[in-house]
Amino acid sequence: MKKIGVLTSGGDAPGMNAAVRAVVRKAIYHEVEVFGIYHGYQGLMEGEIRPLEIGSVGDIIHRGGTILHSARCLEFKTEEGQLKGIEQLNKFGIEGLVIIGGDGSYRGAEALTKRGYPCVGVPGTIDNDIPGTDFTIGFDTALNTVIDAIDKIRDTATSHERTYVIEVMGRDAGDIALWAGLAGGAETILTPEFKYDADDLVTKLKRGHDRGKKHSIIVVAEGVGSAVDVARQIEELTEFETRVTVLGHVQRGGSPSASDRVLASRLGARAVELLLEGKGGRAVGIEKNQLVDYDIVEVLEQKHTIDKKMFDLSAELSI
Ligand code: ADP
Repeated sequence: MKKIGVLTSGGDAPGMNAAVRAVVRKAIYHEVEVFGIYHGYQGLMEGEIRPLEIGSVGDIIHRGGTILHSARCLEFKTEEGQLKGIEQLNKFGIEGLVIIGGDGSYRGAEALTKRGYPCVGVPGTIDNDIPGTDFTIGFDTALNTVIDAIDKIRDTATSHERTYVIEVMGRDAGDIALWAGLAGGAETILTPEFKYDADDLVTKLKRGHDRGKKHSIIVVAEGVGSAVDVARQIEELTEFETRVTVLGHVQRGGSPSASDRVLASRLGARAVELLLEGKGGRAVGIEKNQLVDYDIVEVLEQKHTIDKKMFDLSAELSI
């Protein structure tokens, strides 16, 4: 391969830029030309494609978001859209593509793969919901953003002796809630993977209160439902003054953590190696701190699982 492309797609995540940089530098190191495809699959179909040089990715390793921009594009789910994309790739002589994004973006990579076009998926999403990897790029940074918020809310919760319900992102996965809840010392963590019982939640709150606890922090994953509803339930069943904070998109931004930058650098470079080895249709990941790659079709057939032992531990530590 002499020319490859790179795009970022779907929800942005801190560390995507570090991954783009790694793709570009690794390719150039191997004397391969690199093209940036702007605005995800939308830009691919419209030929928004420009060469990237060593300097094009200078001074971006520490920046959140993605210099290639991202977009959601329904048309790419259709045969017509995919053929338009391949036509553009052929026009520029691009022989392989690195796609950085979440599971929706992987579906686009899968579609191209099924049409015989070599693609490698790099997991870039704060949600940590992609099978075939222990961690996705952006998850660690998002966790740090969430625990910074929890720490601050804890101060005001203590001062006013209130119960706080904090809603975090994660789509259908509870990883952000679980990890940030554990790291932030939350009393209760609600995730979509484990059913919760409002009576149990309230019993635990009352037990803490009777023991003299000044505040309670409950972390709710967005996949469970609205934090407002959880707070309403608590107020109906107790006399505790309850407040809600929905963290929202603040969780997607910010400078990537050291851990995310290293992960992005390793995964981006590995994706290029795979293309140069002639291995398309793969998804890269990290397992037990080793780089791995799997058939992207098989990755999409699997379901992401949450760490049950960690969930149990969080319950044990917040009795
Ligand atoms: P994420 O990659 O963060 O999960 P989305 O689910 O929005 O984000 O997916 C990003 C883009 O991937 C979509 O806007 C669409 O262009 C493309 N995509 C999603 N599903 C498919 C599919 N089944 N076939 C082809 N392209 C898809």
